[in-house]
Amino acid sequence: MPRVALVTGGSRGIGAAIAKALKAAGYTVAANYAGNDEAAAKFTEETGIPTYKWSVADYDACAAGIAKVEADLGPVDILVNNAGITRDAPFHKMTKDQWDQVIGTNLSGAFNMTHPLWPGMRERKFGRVINISSINGQKGQFGQANYSAAKAGDIGFTKALAQEGARNNITVNVICPGYIATEMVMAVPEKVREAIIGTIPVGRLGEPEDIARAVVFLASDEASFITGSTLSANGGQYLS
Ligand code: NDP
Repeated sequence: MPRVALVTGGSRGIGAAIAKALKAAGYTVAANYAGNDEAAAKFTEETGIPTYKWSVADYDACAAGIAKVEADLGPVDILVNNAGITRDAPFHKMTKDQWDQVIGTNLSGAFNMTHPLWPGMRERKFGRVINISSINGQKGQFGQANYSAAKAGDIGFTKALAQEGARNNITVNVICPGYIATEMVMAVPEKVREAIIGTIPVGRLGEPEDIARAVVFLASDEASFITGSTLSANGGQYLS
């Protein structure tokens, strides 16, 4: 039986590319999303990958959503914590709500999804948790105190959990993408985008597939010795 992979925020952008690549690699895949029903329906129609709606910021909703996925497809062996949002503002203008929303989705979301799945992975003595952080969690970013804190938190979460999972053959790794050509980045004015590209040594934005290929590798049996790693995928923009 193919292993089951669950990708949060898997209906659009980087998550959609990850879900598609995992399916192409032979996994049974489920994609979660938050609210954009139209995008999710289109994604399922195009790919045949089922989509499930709940917010990763809500612990109880995650437990219920995971139970539904597992009832439909079987135990989840591979979890990709990809769902993420930005609510940017310079710190002196940042509201408590902007802080809470970003921490709730990008950092607590990883806890909320991993925690209910962890006992099953331990029992079956296999698991892959792949967290999607950001270059801005490594280096910080003006206007993103909330996002940078959450994404840096994902890196610490990964390193701690990797130590706990190792004996049960559960690997936990984190990927830090640089600028990826998703809707969010393509909406930036062309001049600004050109300026951003000027700071990327490989001379281009990343594609969602650049991240998806790394996820497929980390999910594989071949990557069983890699755990607690931070994989930068940023075209050389930030070397940590
Ligand atoms: P998109 O905005 O294109 O897609 C976000 C996805 O996450 C959507 O499927 C969305 O669902 C889902 N989502 C948002 N909030 C929640 C929630 N509370 N619960 C469940 N699902 C949710 O994002 P990207 O593809 O650009 O980013 C994906 C990940 O990569 C994020 O973690 C982001 O921080 C990270 N990243 C992105 C970079 C980039 O350049 N794009 C760079 C570095 C990191 P819905 O459609 O329903 O809203």
